[in-house]
Amino acid sequence: DMTEVEETRQKVFKEKVNHVTGVREWEVAEDDYDIVQEIARSRFGDMILDYDRNDRYEAALITVINEKKAKGEFVHVLDIGTGTGLLSLMAARAGADRVTALEVFAPMADCAQKIIKESGYADIITVIAHRSTDLSHLGEKPNVIVAEVFDTELIGEGALRTFKDALENLVQPGCRVIPARARFYVQATESPHVMGKFNEIPQMREGKEERSEVEMTVPLTRRRLVPLLEDVEVSKTRVTVLDVVHPLDSSCPGNCSVHDVQVSLLLPSLHFSPLSQPTLVFEFNFEDSSSIFFDETAIVRMEISKSGKLDSFLTWWDLDMDRSDGGNTLTMAPDWKDANSRWRDHWMQSIYYPPHRVEVREGEAVPILAGHDEFSLWFAVDDGSSSLASLDRPYCVCEFHARLSRTMIYRMNKLMDDRRLAEEIAKEVSRHPSEVVVVGEGSLLGLHPSVVGGAQRVTILENTPWMRKILHKYIKFHELRNVQVVAEMSQLSKPSLILGEPFFLSSVLPWENLPFWFEVEKIQSLFGDNSIPIMPNRCSIRAIPMKFRDLHHTAGRVGTVNGFNLSKFDELSEKARSAVDAIVEDYSLWEYVGEESDGWKDEERGRAGTELLQMQLDTAPSDSERKEKTIQVTGEMNGIALWAEWQFGDYWMTTGRTRGGGGNESLSWSAGHKQGVYFIPPEQLGEKQIHVITQFVDGEVTFIFSPTPIPLEKK
Ligand code: SAH
Ligand code: ZN
Repeated sequence: DMTEVEETRQKVFKEKVNHVTGVREWEVAEDDYDIVQEIARSRFGDMILDYDRNDRYEAALITVINEKKAKGEFVHVLDIGTGTGLLSLMAARAGADRVTALEVFAPMADCAQKIIKESGYADIITVIAHRSTDLSHLGEKPNVIVAEVFDTELIGEGALRTFKDALENLVQPGCRVIPARARFYVQATESPHVMGKFNEIPQMREGKEERSEVEMTVPLTRRRLVPLLEDVEVSKTRVTVLDVVHPLDSSCPGNCSVHDVQVSLLLPSLHFSPLSQPTLVFEFNFEDSSSIFFDETAIVRMEISKSGKLDSFLTWWDLDMDRSDGGNTLTMAPDWKDANSRWRDHWMQSIYYPPHRVEVREGEAVPILAGHDEFSLWFAVDDGSSSLASLDRPYCVCEFHARLSRTMIYRMNKLMDDRRLAEEIAKEVSRHPSEVVVVGEGSLLGLHPSVVGGAQRVTILENTPWMRKILHKYIKFHELRNVQVVAEMSQLSKPSLILGEPFFLSSVLPWENLPFWFEVEKIQSLFGDNSIPIMPNRCSIRAIPMKFRDLHHTAGRVGTVNGFNLSKFDELSEKARSAVDAIVEDYSLWEYVGEESDGWKDEERGRAGTELLQMQLDTAPSDSERKEKTIQVTGEMNGIALWAEWQFGDYWMTTGRTRGGGGNESLSWSAGHKQGVYFIPPEQLGEKQIHVITQFVDGEVTFIFSPTPIPLEKK
């Protein structure tokens, strides 16, 4: 197996000396570029530096290995998904007689092999570069499994099959497992202004609420419906299901899949009201393969502690590491819930949205349907509706929830509420009302009251078929006689005004919506008139040097961890990063605490950050724009936050930093967009200025960051 690993390593990176600079560089063959990107972007740092996690795994290994040794057993540990080899090394140090380490990702397996060789434990640990579920057996059967194969949703990385299969095929009967079990908790909440905005269908006008009273049966005990439906005592309760009448299919249960969020930053009473205590809904026993099912539904009785309109569930899980009855528990609870919780980005909490909002009353109990398949979970209030009767996972039937991300839905809801934007658009529309053309994808701007209300005719250019269907439903529902939707530019009449949010469905980072500029130019040249007014008319790409409280750990060097030198892992990731372009990652920055390491230094007062590049959208796009800016750092800096702002009259609509913040307050960021983050490489931390070259070439924005001025010749 090791020869296979060696080959992969040789294949992925080719070392080359640049004869001009004398610097060693890494070349990557085109076939392997994706793998290298994956390593470069794999933010294992945060996980490896999660000492709460590391220490609890190590404590459990020591407990279990000592128990086995005390009985005189030969201890053979199977580490499934060894990564850097960390847990295998801990097992060896704790006295395991033999360790078998499996790792499916070949470059990582190779890295683990090197780390283990250096550690002096190579005679105890054997690395095998395979997925556990692809092996039918091992030569000798281990009697302890250790595995950290969890994601934010616990089972999303296939943990259920990994454990069940290993217990049945790879290990001795009675094998101990670390962690021994996992528990999943759900808390009912009401949050119309925050969480609700990630899930609800945007309304052009205030919607009318419809109520239906339903009698529900509440089992007095929790029952597991799969595989056996037990008879349990039940009581009756009445709940009110709340539906809002809106243009799309009102029976749509929405998107029930996970919304992973740093729930620690959502505060009870400020952002949401808790309607119940956290309630245990699932317990997975990883030591008993016969109790592990890939599909299960349970009905759980949830005591309501406060009356309200239940529109969301906050969820998290914990791990009982070694059956020491609470002695060693690794918890993902938000920090306002549990003082033992730690910040981490590789695991966070989640929000799930029920198919319908339900009015609940203090003192009552409601039946919660909790379901999971092999990789994901879902939750609902059992309102007796036929869609839930099958106990199957509900799916969106209106396409809106199925096609749009949570961030996009939030953005659309906010668009409808943005008063300043509405004012500026209304002014411009009233100046050029005859034929307002709205350009973009996945945008509701063409339905915005400020557009529909002022224009003689609105034409929405939307080339995505499902989005055209959604737009048509709004048009029909609200009987909008002056709005039409076309698929192609050739169907347009000459616009009096061109509008855009701008937004395109493929965009991840804000400046990836610049195709708006090219669309505008195409329309202008189609009608031979480059003076057609457009809005927004300028785009500003902006940056703030940041001192993140935690987020930078995701990109940090790991070095020596729990006494083991893992710097071979740093070499691998640095090698990978130097072989790819500067990596600007997308984050929802409202989820991360940080302060700016710069004042409000911009020429235009009141706007945050430094402008890196400005584009004049009412002139033809140039092939190549390039500007160098120097950002002065006043305090400590570990990253740079990047976003775009679009000018609508006197209003700059931000996709990043919002007003407020400053002083001691944590910064506020638009939750309807993701922002870009560039992490300062470890060797450049402490620099007092950073030079940024921002380029717009062939329709793409790229950045070069450097602590020293950048020579012009360099790309
Ligand atoms: N055990 C390491 C790494 C954890 S990350 C640590 O605790 O630091 C999980 C690793 O498991 C990833 O590298 C992933 O590639 C690997 N993995 C997940 N499921 C696996 C499986 N069934 N068999 C082998 N490797 C697996
Ligand atoms: Zn839907």
